[in-house]
Amino acid sequence: MEFIYWERPPLLDFDRSKLLGLVAKYQGSGPRYTSYPTALEFGAQVNAELWRECLLADFDARPASHSSLYLHAPFCRSLCYFCACSKVIDPKLSQLEAFMESVCRELDAYRELIPAGNEAVQIHWGGGSPSFLPADAIDRLCDKIDQVLPSRAAGADISVEVDPRTSSPKQLEHLYARGFNRLSIGVQDFDPSVQRIINRNQSIEQTEEIYQAARAIGFRGINFDLIYGLPGQTAESFRSTVEAVISLRPDRIALYGYAHVTWLKKVQKAMERVHIPTSAERLDLFLHAMERLCDSGYEYVGLDHFATEDDELSAALRSGRLNRNFMGYSTHKGVRIIGVGPSAISSVPGAMAQNLKALGPYCEALTPKGGSAVSSAVERGVILSQDDLIRADVIHDIMCSSVIEVAAFEEKWSIDFWEYFAEVRAALAAMEADGLLRSGDGTLRLSFLGRVFARNIAMLFDAYLPKHGASRAPAFSQTV
Ligand code: SF4
Repeated sequence: MEFIYWERPPLLDFDRSKLLGLVAKYQGSGPRYTSYPTALEFGAQVNAELWRECLLADFDARPASHSSLYLHAPFCRSLCYFCACSKVIDPKLSQLEAFMESVCRELDAYRELIPAGNEAVQIHWGGGSPSFLPADAIDRLCDKIDQVLPSRAAGADISVEVDPRTSSPKQLEHLYARGFNRLSIGVQDFDPSVQRIINRNQSIEQTEEIYQAARAIGFRGINFDLIYGLPGQTAESFRSTVEAVISLRPDRIALYGYAHVTWLKKVQKAMERVHIPTSAERLDLFLHAMERLCDSGYEYVGLDHFATEDDELSAALRSGRLNRNFMGYSTHKGVRIIGVGPSAISSVPGAMAQNLKALGPYCEALTPKGGSAVSSAVERGVILSQDDLIRADVIHDIMCSSVIEVAAFEEKWSIDFWEYFAEVRAALAAMEADGLLRSGDGTLRLSFLGRVFARNIAMLFDAYLPKHGASRAPAFSQTV
């Protein structure tokens, strides 16, 4: 099967039945590989004390390295039925003060661990809906973060997720004045009937107002989140959404596949009364969007992300600097991540730690007891073995640069690549026959089509998957 490597093939012109055959062959659940090992492997072997030691050791080992900070603001005003995020539906923000006290205590504890002068290269507020926070809470959190990480690296990305239904141009001005320079706007789908089904009524005018205000204020790298495969979505309705998005021209687009996981999110059952796109329909939705975005000057960054050709993510892809972590694709490789807030994940090379997920236990863990300050909500994590580190590096290359330079990899890890991964050779050969990759000339290289199936290729190198494979209630979302 012939595919053009690196150049965009006209996927829609390609034999659809063959593509459908590939989707049928490779569809199934799999990790999104924002980390390896995935959070499913986190356990009690990492507690607050061990995480603290790992963090201090990393500051000692890499004193000049940059830090990223992720803040998880869990509150939302109403529930979107498709949502798989860790969130708290609290329209009156009755639990806000408990959250603020706790997250400020957590930040204070990190302040004692972070050496003076350590520079932040990335700060991201996710959720939940950070834009649902009132102005005084935003100020309090910004002030606290400024105390913890007062220095910013040149060109640091300070980003926030914004829900147009809970934001306003005035709020964007406030965020910009507080140092935010990037936005991610939740759009999902512009069609009113789909919005009713997913319980997210958001007019195109609301989104446009926020988007245009963000542009006028000076935000860069503006991202739209879209979802394909939503209940009630049709080829026609989604085409209209894609055209509306293209006409607004955000810098980045994340085009996620809807994950119907009723065993994890029971509320999704409410949407089963309408048609949920089949695999073939999902393929058509995705391919059409991809074709239109690529025709309109967007570059396929990887997995489900697109960016304008002059965006930093596209430049990072072309220069091999693209990175992937818990915050998605970024241009910052190898930085430690300090995660605060319920469910937030932190990482340093060789270790990852996750906070308690539910808001109540998170706040409880950060409540001082008996006069002694409790400074951490870390609940679980993982210490990476040498094998984990090697496999994490392969998976990173597959997800980001789409190429493994075998000799350089062997030198870096002192292994014989093909001997070390002998067990995947047959599966790789089958994927090569399907046109997803090419091995030889000292490289293992994904084709353009192979990048769409990158999760499937990465899964071959995941040593933990076999133990999850037989589950009837998959732990991960659909790969394609
Ligand atoms: S999609 Fe966003 S706004 Fe909707 S429930 Fe999930 S986190 Fe909240």
